[in-house]
Amino acid sequence: MSAQIIDGKALSRHLRTRFRERVGALAAHGVQPGLAVILVGDNPASRLYVANKVKACEECGVASFLHACPADITEAALLGLIARLNAAHTVHGILLQLPLPPHIDMRRVLEAIAVEKDVDGFHLYNVGGLVVGNTIFPPCTPYGVQLLLETTGIEVAGKNVVVVGASNIVGKPMALMLLHKEATVTVCHARTRDLAQHTILADILIVAAGKPGLIVAQMVKHGAVVIDVGINRLPDGRIVGDVDFDGVRDKASWISPVPGGVGPMTVTMLIENTLRSAERCLERDAEVGHPVWDAAVL
Ligand code: NAP
Repeated sequence: MSAQIIDGKALSRHLRTRFRERVGALAAHGVQPGLAVILVGDNPASRLYVANKVKACEECGVASFLHACPADITEAALLGLIARLNAAHTVHGILLQLPLPPHIDMRRVLEAIAVEKDVDGFHLYNVGGLVVGNTIFPPCTPYGVQLLLETTGIEVAGKNVVVVGASNIVGKPMALMLLHKEATVTVCHARTRDLAQHTILADILIVAAGKPGLIVAQMVKHGAVVIDVGINRLPDGRIVGDVDFDGVRDKASWISPVPGGVGPMTVTMLIENTLRSAERCLERDAEVGHPVWDAAVL
């Protein structure tokens, strides 16, 4: 058996085409969705991620406002920028590219982003919403995985789902989202003893550890669905996931490749959240009869 491929690139392309219709509907009300992207310092990986996000905005008709800040920006200056973006009527989403330099308190800065514009879903309010199953903006990577499963027609309710990786941005929100879809969820992390005894039970295995080759065929149940979130650059420059793709594809029923699986979906869900924010904003403005946010100088 050779697994069918879960094609995140194709689904992203499809979704982005549909986004243009929503952008058109907003334009009819005089609204262009806008995403502010804050980049601190010049980490090459962060620059690349930010460039991809800006490009996706262009492709979908979303305005992007890139704020490239020096690595030595003070926390106060960063908080000041966020306050201005919170108040700006043209900005519906604020994305703070992580990681931040060590002199900045990441949590304090993330909590400063207006909940209504927290399109990355990292504000504590949105994180808390995930726990009760009612978040405004689901975090983009697990949201993308959820949509990949849904659109592939993979039923989650009642399934054994094993999530390898327990980070705040991928593993934990992923586990919560699938728990709300009535899966039986196991979360593994670096201190998990005998990882294979957990992964072998998975009907759906989601791997987000950042360790190339962590999951090999012997650890996977016949017919399992395998989603590889990992992105790792090997010394020879190749980009691979956490799963031994060639070995595991002979055992799995479905598998997502790297690249071309979860990666494109993450950026696409960021645009989805930004559009939704603009739509919510329009609804709120209509309710109160005037713009909720005051125009501010960007
Ligand atoms: P992270 O913050 O470093 O977290 C990694 C998680 O994996 C931690 O919970 C860690 O356990 C666990 N882990 C590490 N080694 C393990 C092992 N040998 N066995 C089991 N668990 C192990 O990383 P992240 O930000 O979640 O990202 C994970 C991977 O996904 C990375 O490759 C990253 O590049 C990729 N990623 C991809 C996308 C995308 O769009 N496709 C988006 C975000 C991240 P502890 O908690 O015990 O340390």
